[in-house]
Amino acid sequence: KRLVILGGGESGVGTAILGKKMGYDVFVSDSGKIKEKYKNALENLGVDWEEERHTETKILIADVIMKSPGIPDTVSLVVKLREMNIPVISEIEFASQYTQATIIGITGSNGKTTTTMLVYHVLKNGGLNVGMAGNIGDSFAKMVAEQDFDYYVLEISSFQLDGIVDFKPHIAIITNISPDHLDRYDYKFENYIASKFKIVQNQTAADYLIYDADDEVLLNYLGQHKIPSKLIPFSLEKEFIEGAYMKNNKIQITTQNNTMEMEQDTLALEGKHNLKNTMAASTAAKLVQIRKQTIRESVQNFQGAAHRLEKVLKIHHVQYINDSKATNVNATYYALDSMKTPTVWIVGGLDKGNDYLSLMPMVREKVKAIVCLGLDNSKIKDAFENAVDLMVETFSMEEAIKVAYKIAERGDTVLLSPACASFDLFKNYEDRGDQFKEAVKNL
Ligand code: ADP
Repeated sequence: KRLVILGGGESGVGTAILGKKMGYDVFVSDSGKIKEKYKNALENLGVDWEEERHTETKILIADVIMKSPGIPDTVSLVVKLREMNIPVISEIEFASQYTQATIIGITGSNGKTTTTMLVYHVLKNGGLNVGMAGNIGDSFAKMVAEQDFDYYVLEISSFQLDGIVDFKPHIAIITNISPDHLDRYDYKFENYIASKFKIVQNQTAADYLIYDADDEVLLNYLGQHKIPSKLIPFSLEKEFIEGAYMKNNKIQITTQNNTMEMEQDTLALEGKHNLKNTMAASTAAKLVQIRKQTIRESVQNFQGAAHRLEKVLKIHHVQYINDSKATNVNATYYALDSMKTPTVWIVGGLDKGNDYLSLMPMVREKVKAIVCLGLDNSKIKDAFENAVDLMVETFSMEEAIKVAYKIAERGDTVLLSPACASFDLFKNYEDRGDQFKEAVKNL
């Protein structure tokens, strides 16, 4: 059978490795350039590939197509493949066909990476034979091919979910849903929501959906649709017979008629959003029977991911925090919410159609000065000009840090939480965060 892979990146090459192992005739086609390390991997496998074009005579004869998540459905080649009824699937769909492992799948608009890393950390501490993949690190397909595990913790984007057929996580987590990537969903929020909920489409009553019961979008959807799996909510505001909630500053988690408690003060990750991520991850760990003591210890000693409210340095009693991964308004809301001191806020970048209004109460409460960092700062200036005493425009990270350093006083925090994409001035959010850390260290 012929497997054609569109896109020669991490998930494409992972799929090639697995496809080859399973006896497929594999061909990789990328409309852009393929990275050197991936080309070498394909050469070593003996897989035929092409770049900077799609040769239809080699593609349209496929039995199955794996489309990488970065390729939109509207590309003419993909439209054509669909018209010809050739199955177009995602990498997680392909890989899941070749493993018997128990899967914990994590999706949502914010908190995926943090929650995924946390679940993995707890399961590993619990002694399980577990792998972590998806949007994080190595591809799922490569792992299945090279070293299959008993459990997988997968970070799953909506683009990966768009290409599933039979994929079924035993435990699904939806961290929250707010508008994002709408350019890929006909600018219809409901399409994006439906895509996230594909994570439960093959689940049965023996499976679980863990979800944020404070999230109106999730509640609305669940009110209108019947979900096949067992629902386990988590919340900072409500209490449940089965689920995770707060009581007297303790997290309470009840599943399968059994309750555990954790002190909020002892958690490694700060902020309300991380309280939610911790609840979600611990609930999943409890459902796979990790011991309570192991769960408690794991969430206490967890080292957070880089670029997510990452504490960089304290200089003259000013704390510098890198939250470069906050590429939308909702993520920045939680970052500002978790600030405990007056904050010099570095914000801006490539605007994704942001509505800044929801940040206004946070800005009034926490922010003493705004440092705009982007090619075009006009929307941010319009939104917050009257909300803070001081606003300065800057056009490089170095300049932004110098300005923030001058403004910040003893006891303040300097927070980079851009609420925007990074591509106007940086390669990606990692580059932006790395430049922040570098500039802070140079102070
Ligand atoms: P994702 O993988 O979904 O992008 P991350 O864990 O990388 O999520 O976090 C992305 C950004 O969102 C960070 O700035 C982080 O501080 C913020 N964040 C993390 N968890 C949540 C949450 N549950 N709700 C809102 N924002 C969050």
